[in-house]
Amino acid sequence: VKAEILSIGTELLLGSILNTNARFLSQKLAESGVDVYRQTSVGDNVGRIAEAFAEALRRSDAVVASGGLGPTKDDVTLEGLARFLGRPLAVHQPTWRHIKQRLESRGYKMTSLSGRQCRLPVGAIVFPNPVGTAPALLCETVFEGRKKWIAVFPGPPQELEPLFKPVLTTLLRRANVRPEHFIKRTIRISGLLEIDVARKVPDLLKSRPPLTVGIYAKPGEVELAVMSKHVSRAKALAAADRVEKTVRRRFGADVYGVDNETVASALGALLRKKKSTLSIAESCTGGLASDLLSDVSGSSDYFAGSLVAYSNRIKEDLLGVAEEVLKKHGTVSPQTAWLMAKNVRQVFGTGYGIAITGIAGPSGGSVKKPVGLVYIALSSPRKITVHENRFYGTRAEIKSRAARMALDLLRRALLKNF
Ligand code: ATP
Ligand code: MG
Repeated sequence: VKAEILSIGTELLLGSILNTNARFLSQKLAESGVDVYRQTSVGDNVGRIAEAFAEALRRSDAVVASGGLGPTKDDVTLEGLARFLGRPLAVHQPTWRHIKQRLESRGYKMTSLSGRQCRLPVGAIVFPNPVGTAPALLCETVFEGRKKWIAVFPGPPQELEPLFKPVLTTLLRRANVRPEHFIKRTIRISGLLEIDVARKVPDLLKSRPPLTVGIYAKPGEVELAVMSKHVSRAKALAAADRVEKTVRRRFGADVYGVDNETVASALGALLRKKKSTLSIAESCTGGLASDLLSDVSGSSDYFAGSLVAYSNRIKEDLLGVAEEVLKKHGTVSPQTAWLMAKNVRQVFGTGYGIAITGIAGPSGGSVKKPVGLVYIALSSPRKITVHENRFYGTRAEIKSRAARMALDLLRRALLKNF
C-alpha cells in the first residue's frame, strides 16, 4: 500500500507545535513496510480537510491522519471526514458510554460538547482510546473506482501512539497485504566527505525497493542508511547484511560502526578487547572528549579519567610540560601536544593517552596559527604520534569536531596495532 500522512491542526500551520506525529507515523509505517509518499498539514477547517483527504486518495491507497478529534468546536476532523466520505455522522453508542464513564469516574458530567466526540461517520471501525476520550477510526471507502482506507488518530501523541498498532494491523488485513518486515541499518563512516563516500558506492545508491540505500551527511561523519523490506524477516536481514559487508569491504577502517554505535563506543570496544586503558589531557575541548567516552555505559572498564589542562600553569604543574617548550613553541604546537600525550599516560598509569590542544576561536587566532588549528597527540607504550588538524565552524563546532577526531584517530591507530 501507498500511504500519505495528513496532519490536521491550525496550531501546526501557525508553528505553535512541532509535528512529531508525522515523524512517528512515518517511522512506524516504514517499519511495517508501508511506503509513505507524502506528508501534508492542513488547518482545522471542514472544507480544506475534506479536500485534503480527496487529494491524498487520488494519489495513494491510504491516508493516515491525526488531530482535530477533540470535543471543542474548533476540532472538525470528523465533519471533514464525513463530508469527504459523503456519509452522515451518527452517535456511536459504545463510544458514548466510554466517554461518559471516563468523565464520570473523574467527577465530570457529560456535556453536549463531549457528545460531539461520539458522533462518528457511519460505517467506521472504532478503536477505543485507552488514555483519552476520542477514539481512533478506520474507514473503508471506494473512491474513483478503487478501494481506499482512511485512519484517523487523536492529536496528543500519548493518545495516538498506543492506538497505532491495532489500527494499522486492521488496515493491512483489510487491504489484504501481508505485513512486510522493514530493516533499517545505518552504516557510519568517519573521516570522509559525502561526495567521496558517494563516489565509492554509486551502484548501491541506485538500488531500488525492496532494498534502498540513502546517504546523509552528519556533523563529522557520513551515514549510509540501508533499508530492506521483505515478508520474511530473515531475508530482509540477509539483504541488509550483504550491503553492510560490501560497504565494509570498500571502506575498511573508515566504517566505525552501525546503528547506535558511536566513535566513542567503537574505540571503547577496541580498548576492552585489548584489555587496555585510556586517559586524556584536554585543553581546547574542555572535557568534551571525556564526555563522549563517558556517554558509553561501562566505559569505566577502560576509561581511567582525564585532565582538563586548560591553563599553561596546569599543563606545567600537573602534566609536566616544560615552561621552555610552552614559551618556545606555544601552547598550540605539536611539541606541547606530544608532551601532554606522553605525560598524561604516565600520570594516569594507562595503556594509552590522548592529548588535545588547539584554538577553538573565535578569538585567539593568528596567521601562523589560525582559529581551528588543533593538535591531537596519541601515546602508547611504544610510540607517540602527533596529528595536525584544521577544523572550521563555530567555537562549539570546532570543539566537538576536535573531540570526535581525537577518539577516531586513536580508534584507527588501535586497528593498526599502535
Ligand atoms: P484534544 O482532544 O486534546 O483537543 P485532538 O485530537 O483534537 O485532541 P488537536 O486539538 O489537533 O487534537 O491537538 C491537541 C494537542 O495534541 C495539541 O495541542 C498538541 O499538543 C498535540 N498534537 C496535535 N497534533 C500534533 C502533531 N501533529 N504532532 C504533535 N503533537 C500534536
Ligand atoms: Mg483539539
